[in-house]
Amino acid sequence: MPIYEYKCRECGELSEFRISAQSDTKKLTCQKCGSQKLERKISVPSISSGRSVPSGQTCCGNPGGCSEPGSCCGH
Ligand SMILES: [Zn+2]
Repeated sequence: MPIYEYKCRECGELSEFRISAQSDTKKLTCQKCGSQKLERKISVPSISSGRSVPSGQTCCGNPGGCSEPGSCCGH
């Protein structure tokens, strides 16, 4: 599920939300001040763990990449 960054217009805090097709983006609130005045930042969806995995290095077909290619799926 992609993660999108929203910037709060009230305090400038960046908040990350997992947005699915069913998510109601109108209910998103700033994680710092609770404001609903958020504007979406255009960015490439990133992997939530923060660990970057080079694309293509998968051992099980995981589209996001495997954390430990060759061993993460029990192969
Ligand atoms: Zn805020």
